Parts: sequence; C-alpha cells; structure tokens
Amino acid sequence: MENNKMKAQLFYGPGDVRFEETDIPKPGPGEALVKIKSVLTCGSDLKTYRRGHPTMIADGSVFGHEWAGDIVELGEGIEDFNIGDRVVAVNTAPCFKCYYCKLERYSMCDNLVYNNGAYAEYIKIPADILAVNTIKIPDHVGYPAAALTEPLACAVHGIDESNITEGDVVAVNGAGPIGLFFVTLAKLKGAIVISSDLSDERLKVAEELGADFNVNASKVEDQVQAVRDLTAGGRGVDVTIEATGFPKVWEMTILMARKGGTVNLFGGCASGTSINIDTKLLHYSELIIKGVYHHTPYYVKKAFKLIEKGLFDTSRFITSDMPLERLVDALELMGQQKGIKYNITT
Ligand SMILES: [Zn+2]
Ligand SMILES: [Zn+2]
Repeated sequence: MENNKMKAQLFYGPGDVRFEETDIPKPGPGEALVKIKSVLTCGSDLKTYRRGHPTMIADGSVFGHEWAGDIVELGEGIEDFNIGDRVVAVNTAPCFKCYYCKLERYSMCDNLVYNNGAYAEYIKIPADILAVNTIKIPDHVGYPAAALTEPLACAVHGIDESNITEGDVVAVNGAGPIGLFFVTLAKLKGAIVISSDLSDERLKVAEELGADFNVNASKVEDQVQAVRDLTAGGRGVDVTIEATGFPKVWEMTILMARKGGTVNLFGGCASGTSINIDTKLLHYSELIIKGVYHHTPYYVKKAFKLIEKGLFDTSRFITSDMPLERLVDALELMGQQKGIKYNITT
C-alpha cells in the first residue's frame, strides 16, 4: 500500500474491461479494508461484462462480488474485527428500517447497500455490511470455499422457498453454479434430483454432486417430456427450479411440474422479457409459481455453516485458478459454458 495504488479490473462498458491501476479505498468509520485472497467469477459478472449492469456497476468502477480475504486496515469504532482476520463478506446489507425490512423480507429491502469491487488487490467493506454480513473464516476453510458464501446464500434462500420434502422429485433446469447449488441442496433435503443442461461437462458435475438423472436438453426432442418421463406415469415432478434466466426455460419449468407442484423461477431474465402461462393449467393444476431473489443475513449465515461443516464438496464449484490480469479470459470461458467458476487470484 506504499503508493496507495492497486491493480484492478475496471468495467468501462459492455465488452470493455481494463486491467489498470486505481486508488486503494480508504476505510472510514465502521469500515474495513481487506486484501483479497480469492474472488470467484459469477454469472452476473459475465452479464455485466457483456451488456453492462443497469443499477449496480457504474462505468469506470471495479466489479466482482464473491470474495474472501484478510483485514489489513480498520476504520474507527470497530470492536468485532481485528487486523489479520480472515473474512468473507457478501455484496449487500439490508437497512432494517424500510417497509420490507419491517416485514422481515430483507431480500426486498428498498435501501439495500451494495458493495462491488473485488476484482482488485483490495476491497473496502462498508459499515452496514461489516456489521451484519461479514463472517470470520475458521482456519480449516480455504478462501475460495469461503468465497462461495454469497451465491450459496441465494440458493439456500431459493431452496427454502421450494417446499421440498424427503423423497420429492425435483427438477433443476440449468447446471451452472446456481443450478449446481440447487442440485446439492435438494440432495441434502433428501430429494430425487433431475438435472438438465446443454453441457455434458456441467451435467457430469451435477452427477458428482448427487443428481440422480441427467437430461441433456440438446440431445432430446422435447425437454419437458424427457423430464416428465422420469416420473411415475409421466405426471410431472413435485418441485421444479429454474436456474438459467431464459424465458423459454421459465415456460418449460412450469410445464414440468405435477398438479399442485411448486415452481421456483429463480434465474433472473433480461429486463423487458415476459412469458406465457396456460391459464387453464395454472387454474386446474393449482400450481404454486414463485419468484425468489437474492439472500438475507439469515441465509448468509446458514450458507456459511454448510461450507464450514463440509456438508458438500466446495471444490466441485471451482474449475481452476486464474490470475487477476486474465479475468476477461475467465469470463469468456464462462460465456462458452466452459467450467463452473474460476478462482481469480491477486
Ligand atoms: Zn454472484
Ligand atoms: Zn430495508
């Protein structure tokens, strides 16, 4: 920190990410500065890289939000953390004051405080996030595993809203990182899991994580039928979860459910898109269709506990290491559906 400069990947616009020197952030009261040890690529970073981010990432700013590292500097008034602590912090904190926070629906907080900027040597943790959504990492947990906390927290929130009980047949559409978390979590809940994707490589990982059946959507004529055929009498699955973010897949996800089943439309689609739902199907089949978004402090803690207790193999989610200067290469590989997550090291 001698010259107060650090290396970072800055987002300037769609397709324009530059590896540059920028200022090391300075922690104010209640804030902490962290030396990044691991930052993981995420599907939303790929979206930002390709088409920009409407709200969260300003042009000319550092992005990246799934990280873990060491506290190297503390602002005034912090009692719960010390210099040298290994920590993971997630990308937001709720305000605890708005209408939705009062309802305890923290993922819908009107004033979420965001923190991005992990594709860099250092990141600052804002006071609200340090206070409620930062966790000390025990020695036996590695940095990349700890950095999975944020996306896992989203998936733990999603699985909790999916009404899964032991023995249920659950279809998970998409075997990217989030889909694979759903496979893992549905297995931990005692479900029979059908994983669908276009990539055999990803489906193999789903299988390693416990998926009972795989459907390669590019190799079957009718993906909905292929999934329904795996259920007794073709009646459909108890729970379907969408983890691709494509409207067509949202529609197929609804059609895979049995009567009275639960449909979790989790993957965020491009803004302005819409889907068609057969009104007769929705009415007579009494489907429960829901959207689930983001995480809450409760799910962040719960997700970290799953990692800390070793309840699943975190290494399956990390394809390989990449140095910070090669971030764009890692994002391009993700865009070609190669690998799950890349561990960017500084
Ligand atoms: Zn993410
Ligand atoms: Zn709020």
